[in-house]
Amino acid sequence: MSELTDLSELAKRRGFFFASNEAYGGTAGFYTFGPEGAALKRNVEDVWRDRFVRELGHMELEAPTVMPEAVFEASGHLDTFDDMILECGDCGATHRADHLVEDATDVDDAEAFAPERVADLVADHDVACPSCGVPLADRPVEAFNLMFGTNIGPGSSSPGYLRPETAQGIFVEFPRLKEYARNQLPFGVAQIGRAYRNEISPRRALVRVREFTQAELEHFIDPEYDDPPLERVDDVELPLYSAAAQQDDGDLEHHTVAEALEAGVVESEWVAYYLGEALAFYEAIGVDMDRFRYRQHLPGELSHYAADCWDAETEVGGNWVEVTGFAYRSDYDLRKHGKHSEEEFTVFRQYDEPKTVERATVDPDMSYLGPTFGGAAGDVVDALEALARRDRSAFDGDAVTVEVDDESYTLPVEKTGFAVEEQTESGEHITPHVVEPSFGIDRLVYSVLAHRHGTDEVDGEERSFLALPTGVAPTTVAVVPLMTKDGLDERAREVAASLRAAGFEVNYDDTGNIGRRYRRQDEVGTPYCVTVDYDTLEDDTVTVRERDSTDQTRVAVDDLADAVDRLVSGAALSEL
Ligand code: AMP
Repeated sequence: MSELTDLSELAKRRGFFFASNEAYGGTAGFYTFGPEGAALKRNVEDVWRDRFVRELGHMELEAPTVMPEAVFEASGHLDTFDDMILECGDCGATHRADHLVEDATDVDDAEAFAPERVADLVADHDVACPSCGVPLADRPVEAFNLMFGTNIGPGSSSPGYLRPETAQGIFVEFPRLKEYARNQLPFGVAQIGRAYRNEISPRRALVRVREFTQAELEHFIDPEYDDPPLERVDDVELPLYSAAAQQDDGDLEHHTVAEALEAGVVESEWVAYYLGEALAFYEAIGVDMDRFRYRQHLPGELSHYAADCWDAETEVGGNWVEVTGFAYRSDYDLRKHGKHSEEEFTVFRQYDEPKTVERATVDPDMSYLGPTFGGAAGDVVDALEALARRDRSAFDGDAVTVEVDDESYTLPVEKTGFAVEEQTESGEHITPHVVEPSFGIDRLVYSVLAHRHGTDEVDGEERSFLALPTGVAPTTVAVVPLMTKDGLDERAREVAASLRAAGFEVNYDDTGNIGRRYRRQDEVGTPYCVTVDYDTLEDDTVTVRERDSTDQTRVAVDDLADAVDRLVSGAALSEL
């Protein structure tokens, strides 16, 4: 069986995740995290929060998942958040056209091609519908917007969308957030939450779904003055698969953050910094670092505003999966929202010394503008001020023209009060740049399950286990009575209660024989089992069994919480 089939079977049987709404035939692209999966996912999020919010001193917010259309007009999602769709003329199945091309050719970045080129490749390679086998050569390749639309309130006058990324909920609140940051750059704002994309062909379980959790950090910086604290990560070794290596059939290279910057493999110091910070996070949640790489975007994949982009990728079932995008987004997002909204998406940068600068100003003659332009006079004044700031040469002639709502207004320059004055300024308004690490939590949970799942032989039987790090395992200790009689179960419940009171995640399990119970706990990744047996009734000791080695030792019940605490902190069973 393939790794993916094994994983989906284990996930369903043990309550990690399963397809949603199966009672009603299922809904493609939606998964429910069962009790074990929800706990694992929460723990992964907590490790992320601990590192990217608490340790780095950033803020965290929680924004709504439905946002008005204006936000996505400004962000560009309404116009460009598309994938290429191709519908079979025979059976009506819809497919991602770029994926069809990638599957049928040796092209691996068809997403970056124009739809016409993808349609040509479909025709040239005789690509057939994967569902019914009919050739797709004459079918059009069209853009399909991935956002789920809705209406805010009754009626259709206020369209909204389920957010396709959590980032916009941070960007739109920038004017308020900068006040919390006391108008001082740099500062970072994080959010962990659901995002929605109406994927054309959801696939590979949690890898491509229509609702998923992102953990995103938007770090707002002054591009001229703010440097990342590289000393924290200088020596961290990064597995880098550069664009050059991808294009020349090269290999993964290992460089420390300092070397990667020195050699120019990673261009942006900020991106290199976050690649370094993130590595310990992946290790902490249990990603197998032999099945992990940072891959640089190829020139065709780069967004026009992004200077340098790298993805963290994990290998699952023979495929590389993007689990995080690291991007230097420049001032693109804040500039867009500043332009489309009424708010200022800037911060005031104080100069070291006040500067004397020349400023072009206007002081229009309202006794002329009022009667001449009527209700538009106010807007004409605003447009004249903006024009004077932007292009003072426009006032060189006798007349000047401004545009307001697609109408042109022309007036004599002498009526504008145009002047160039010397002013002393203590600073200037700048639009911060944004560095964004964007993590997909579902894909990470999926990768961790795949990487940590193994089989071995214990007592002559095959055992299936999940070697999850203690920090993310859904349960830390399972308490199991040897028998459910002679008071063993009662004593075991007391032991479980005392461990819960000490703050551990505890599972009490008394169904099936003891061997089966160990197997069950091994398979959901519980690192320790505590067994209450007949000796417990005599000397008040219990057996502590370790998942990975299956070694056991006896510990006094009075010392148990302390012993588990030491194990969780890294002590070996033999040290207890
Ligand atoms: P993007 O904004 O496309 O760079 O996505 C950021 C992160 O979200 C990716 O690195 C993925 O981990 C995750 N992601 C994006 N799309 C999906 C999806 N359809 N299903 C699951 N995770 C996704």
